[in-house]
Amino acid sequence: MFNSARLKITAWYLLIIMIISLAFSLVIYRLLSMEIERFALAQQFRIERRFNVNELLPPPVVFDMELVNDVKNRLILNLIVINSTILLVSGVLSFFLAGRTLKPIKNMVDEQNRFISDASHEFRTPLTSLKSAMEVYLRDPKLKLSDAKQLIKENIDEVNRLQLLSDKLLKLAQFQKPNSMANFAQVTLKSIITQAVRQTKPMAKLKKIKIISQSPDLKFLANQTGLTDLLVILLDNAIKYSPEHKSIKISAKKYDGNLEISVTDHGIGIEPSEIPHIFDRFYRADSARSKINATGYGLGLSIAKKIVDIHRGQISVVSQPKKGSTFTVKIPTKFFS
Ligand code: ADP
Repeated sequence: MFNSARLKITAWYLLIIMIISLAFSLVIYRLLSMEIERFALAQQFRIERRFNVNELLPPPVVFDMELVNDVKNRLILNLIVINSTILLVSGVLSFFLAGRTLKPIKNMVDEQNRFISDASHEFRTPLTSLKSAMEVYLRDPKLKLSDAKQLIKENIDEVNRLQLLSDKLLKLAQFQKPNSMANFAQVTLKSIITQAVRQTKPMAKLKKIKIISQSPDLKFLANQTGLTDLLVILLDNAIKYSPEHKSIKISAKKYDGNLEISVTDHGIGIEPSEIPHIFDRFYRADSARSKINATGYGLGLSIAKKIVDIHRGQISVVSQPKKGSTFTVKIPTKFFS
């Protein structure tokens, strides 16, 4: 698909270049032909005038049409050679430039295809297990009401998980849109942190985890929903990957026109070999699956990364297995007093 598009764009580039080049060649040919003829006539006229003064001999004919035509033919030949060279060079250059033009579009389409196939893969497994469980129960002639109720309950849990997955995928797609930058406005750090803590508090309460927040009262330019979602993801993970009775700290500071927000937990930590992958879509570290048995789809941190990207910032993590992790977000922003 992209190869034929590349050839089409190359052909269009070439067509434009050659139209311009041929138009210029035509103008150059017309002007030079006129100049050559004018020069030959002027020479003839000067010689005739000199001979008229002397009146001894008839003036010789200098204006040789054959010579003029010969010069014109050589000019045409030179212009053909120049245009052929332009055609060749611009053909190669156009092909190269068409490739460069299409590269970001190709990357985007590849990324979208990967996204669709990853997402459908994640949906297919639970849907298949839902379907087969229902089919087995349906085929059982002695199915008891209590068993049916149990199945429905399990199915509702599975459907809730699928709903969560689709919500996360929608969020990821929302922050992937090029115009997600459009909703920037003046926000207050305290209110964003309070909102994020409020959303994660019920889960923290279940595990008897305390959330400590420390932040100056800053006003700055950001995407309010995005930044709240980002903090919810980091707090949510901190709670999810911490044992009961631990504490989590969220702190923020301002320096050199940057805002730095950190979320520190004393949870299971992350193995150094897994750190480079945790921001990838659908990546879940082994420890997350096995040790703590926390549910998730490996989408939280990739959404967080997209939100940080639209703020042109950076997200990093320092972690020690069995000790805990600190996720730090740095975003350049405009502060208001
Ligand atoms: P999810 O939590 O749904 O699995 P995320 O994208 O939020 O997906 O996180 C990716 C992986 O990074 C997690 O599976 C987990 O292994 C690791 N991780 C993220 N945050 C933490 C944390 N605070 N402590 C330990 N591991 C974490």
